[in-house]
Amino acid sequence: MENCKFVSGTGGTTEIGYTNKNDQQCHGTLKVKGTDHLQYVYRMECLRCGYVYGANGSDVHERRCPECQGGAPGIRYWRAEAGAWRS
Ligand SMILES: [Zn+2]
Repeated sequence: MENCKFVSGTGGTTEIGYTNKNDQQCHGTLKVKGTDHLQYVYRMECLRCGYVYGANGSDVHERRCPECQGGAPGIRYWRAEAGAWRS
């Protein structure tokens, strides 16, 4: 589905497949707006426990897993209204 397509961010730390020092891997973004100014939310996966969650682009490089590393709770990375933003 077109509206489920994840894309890489512009910085090196938000590219699909980037893994930070805490073993958190970036899956890219659906361009959902994050909670930080001008940030998109990226889908992250913990390579230690498999937990999947959302993180602001500015946090990807230092993000910790909410499940097994005591990181902040994940934020919504998926689009709430799938039909509302078709181009
Ligand atoms: Zn984890």
